[in-house]
Order: sequence, then structure tokens, then C-alpha cells
Amino acid sequence: MTSLYQTLGQRSAADWQQRLSTFQYQISNFIDGQPCPALSGETFEVVNPATGKVHASAPRSGDADIDVAVKSARRAFKSGSWSRLAPRDRMAVLYRFAALIDENAEAFALLDVLDMGKPITDMLEVDVPYSALSFQFFAETIDKLEGSVTSTTPEALHYILRQPLGVVGLIVPWNYPLLMAAWKLAPALSMGNSVVLKPAEQSPSSAVLLAQLFMQAGGPPGVFNVVQGYGAEAGAALALHMNVDKIGFTGSVEVGKKMFIYAGQSNMKRVTTECGGKSPQIILADVADLDRAVSYAVNGIYANQGEVCNAGSRLLVQDSIYDAFIERFSEVAQGRYLPGDPFDPATRMGSMVSFQQQKRVLGYIDKANAEGGRLVFGGGVPRGLEHGAYVSPTLYADVSPQMTLAREEVFGPVAAAIRVTGLGHALEIANDSIYGLAASVWTQNIDKALTFARDVEAGIVWVNCFDHGDMTQPWGGFKQSGNGRDRCLEALTQYSQTKSVWVHLGG
Ligand code: NAD
Repeated sequence: MTSLYQTLGQRSAADWQQRLSTFQYQISNFIDGQPCPALSGETFEVVNPATGKVHASAPRSGDADIDVAVKSARRAFKSGSWSRLAPRDRMAVLYRFAALIDENAEAFALLDVLDMGKPITDMLEVDVPYSALSFQFFAETIDKLEGSVTSTTPEALHYILRQPLGVVGLIVPWNYPLLMAAWKLAPALSMGNSVVLKPAEQSPSSAVLLAQLFMQAGGPPGVFNVVQGYGAEAGAALALHMNVDKIGFTGSVEVGKKMFIYAGQSNMKRVTTECGGKSPQIILADVADLDRAVSYAVNGIYANQGEVCNAGSRLLVQDSIYDAFIERFSEVAQGRYLPGDPFDPATRMGSMVSFQQQKRVLGYIDKANAEGGRLVFGGGVPRGLEHGAYVSPTLYADVSPQMTLAREEVFGPVAAAIRVTGLGHALEIANDSIYGLAASVWTQNIDKALTFARDVEAGIVWVNCFDHGDMTQPWGGFKQSGNGRDRCLEALTQYSQTKSVWVHLGG
């Protein structure tokens, strides 16, 4: 049987353009089960970065909109319509929701591609199916997570309940607009919380459809609200709100730090953060298959235009294979990641999310040139694509660990290759970072592999692969890459709290 994804995957760029010509959508807030504009009536323009053209407008919300949404969420929470729904009934809604996400793959793909210029193939292979899977995974857990009874004195019964937090604010980035929202919504909703989602201003479109489908799946009004707007306005209002119990944040370190300040300035709400990275990919001389390592290393930095939190942007390659690695990496990368029309199913690299992001990435390229990096390929805007926010896949070699390119998150398709003498040297450089999201090592030596896994300061470690994983894998960082964990069962604990009940027995 051909799946919907396979059918959509067979479309040509012309088919997609034709579908786009009749595609109707509106970007709104979604509060108390209804789409609505900002109370002020203000809007902002949403630009398709691959064409440079405005494709829609979105509500520019502020304090008052957030307040209405939070009140709606609190009302729904207190009513028990979701928070006290029998676990299997909540599970049934989330299963239907997951199925509806799959069924609406075409619309989600169109919306996120229009907003951020990523390849439609990525939407169909990664973003949409994995978003649906996220809801399935957490739906399955709903009646599996148990409280406990502790072994205590015979004069008492002591049990521990796990309960939802209440109203949860979710602030998400633009790089995987649907998927990053799903990773947080799924555990938050599974635990029975009500949520207010604030999408990134660059990618507001898919969140509205998501909230509508939740209602269609049988979710009660007020449980899943969406408020659009700028970070410093709607985002800050949500994080500062006195009646929000938690902020689940994914985004930059700079803004992540603000979440803790907002919590301190308001009601000491809980904060979990998933922030940036400067992930090292370490290739040692005893790698079993250099071509395989190169292939993963290339995808590790250039997939999703390098706009990936765990992008393997530092290539730490052992001396004796360094030149061969650079040569092979250059061939594979330039053959595989040709920037192009995101609606062409053959395109693996779309545009940057915005012209601002393009400027930022080009700024890092200028800096790498000024600081003495050796440009191997790329290093600018691809010819013929000047109308969009494109950047060519780029590699700098002979980068020193002190260079800006080796230290700061570019969040674009720019790799920095650094020579290392061996594992010890690689570990030293890998750990010399404010970040600690992900890391990989390629070696046949089990001792080196396990030593690396033990000593590298990162929340996610890969041995002889990169970016493998599934929903059981905790997704989060060490150090300034954040304190949260998405995806795994642990995420549920971050959207719930324990209650100790001590019952005195015997009068
Ligand atoms: P960003 O920090 O600029 O914005 C993230 C979100 O915060 C957006 O919704 C934005 O509107 C909001 N925001 C901005 N300023 C705010 C403020 N003052 N108060 C409240 N909210 C505010 O990040 P971005 O540019 O959208 O995304 C890129 C970053 O996200 C990168 O650093 C990337 O590594 C990180 N990221 C991390 C993960 C992870 O799982 N660790 C996943 C995806 C992206």
C-alpha cells in the first residue's frame, strides 16, 4: 500500500507550485478553541525566505493576548476537561491527533516550507512524520507512568502522586517549527497540562493548524492555545506571566538565559531550556570506513541548512587522515548539498530562514576569513539564488580552536575542520566550549570509544554514527546547551510534579 508520504514524495516542483496556487491558509492566534486576531488588530509580515516575498501576515500579540490565553488555559485546567480526563480517553485523543497530523502532511509541509525555506523533502521525511510519532510515543505512556507507595512506618501509608503542573508556556524556535513544538506539546499534553504555545515569529504558520487538529481530535477548548508575536513582546509576556507554572523553551543561549530571569522576576515558574550547540564530530585514524564517516559528517553539518541545534559544526580529524578526509568531505558535500528551490523534491539544501540569518552566517564567514581560516569550498551566496536568503555549504580547514568559527554557534551551513593528534587532544578541544549538546566519535577501538563517551561533556553521544536515535533517547545538553530533556520518558517528569500524601493510620 502506498502511504500518503510516498504519494506526496512523488510530486515534482511544478506539482507543488500548482498545489500552492490554490492553497488557502490563515495565520492567527488560537485561544479557547477559536482562531482570533491580536486584540490590538496589529499584524506583522511573514516572508518566504527562498523568494524574499511576503507570503502572509500574523497577529502581533502582546501582554493582553497572552493574558487572555493564559486565563483560557487555566480555566480549562481547572475544569478538569483534560487534566482529569481518564488516561485512556486522553490517550485516544492524542492518537487521533497523531493520525490527523499524518493526514495533513501536505499542509504542514507547505506551511513550514513557505515560512522557512527548508526542503519539502525534509518536511515529508522528517518533520511531519516525527511530529506525529512524538504524540504517539507520549500517548502510549499516559497510563504507564505510575505513582508509588514508599516503605515507611506501619503507622502510616505514604504514597506519591504524579500530577500535571497546570498552565505551561512553550516558546519554540523556527528551525523545525512543527517538530520542536511537538516535542514539547506531546509530554505537556500527555501529563494533562494546558498549554500556551508561542511559535517563533519567522515560522508562525503550522502552529495554528496544529491547534485546530487537536480540537478536531476531540481535545477540549482552552487546553492548547497559540499566541503569535515577537519574542520580546508575546514571548516575554508569557515567560513573565504570574499564572504560568512552567516555561519549556527551545532557542538560543542568549534568550534561554532570559527565561530564568523572567521566572525570577515573576512567580519563580519552572524553566527548562534546550539551547544551542557547537557539536564536535571526531574522526580518528582507526575509523573503519572513512567514506561512511564522511557521509555522516556531511549530513551532520549541512542537513536542514546547518540550522540544527546539534549540527556537527566542528570536525576534529586526526592528523594522518586529515587531508584525505577534507578531500572526500568536499566532494560529497558539494555533490549532495546543492542549494536550490525548496519545492523541488531533489533539493537537500534550501535557504536560510531569513535575510537576517543569512547576514549573520555571512558575518561568520567574513570573520573566518579575517582570522585566517582556509576556505575549502563555499563561502558566500550561491550564484543564481541571490533573490533568496541562501548561503552555500561552506568548509573551512586548518581552523584553530581559538577562532570564532570554532567557538560560536553559526546556525548555518559552515563547518570548521581542526587537526587533532589523537583522542586526548580531541577531547580537550571538544570540551573547551560553553556548549555541550551532542558529540560523536569514529573509531574501531572500544577503549577509545568508551573513554570518549565517558569523558565528553555532552548530553547526546554517538559512536560510529551521527544523529541516530528515536523517541526513547533523551534530547538535551550539558552546560549552556540547556537543562531540559525532550523526547524521552524523562520529559514527562519535566511537565509534572510529585505530591507526597502521608496518611496517618490507627486514629
Ligand atoms: P531564539 O532564541 O532567537 O528564539 C527562540 C524563541 O524565543 C522564539 O519563539 C522567539 O520569538 C522567542 N524569544 C526571543 N526573544 C525573546 C524574549 N526576549 N523573551 C521571550 N521569548 C523570546 O532562537 P531561534 O533563532 O528561533 O532558534 C535558533 C536557536 O535555537 C539556536 O541557538 C539553536 O541551537 C536552538 N535550538 C535548540 C534545540 C535543542 O533541542 N537544544 C533545538 C532547536 C533549536
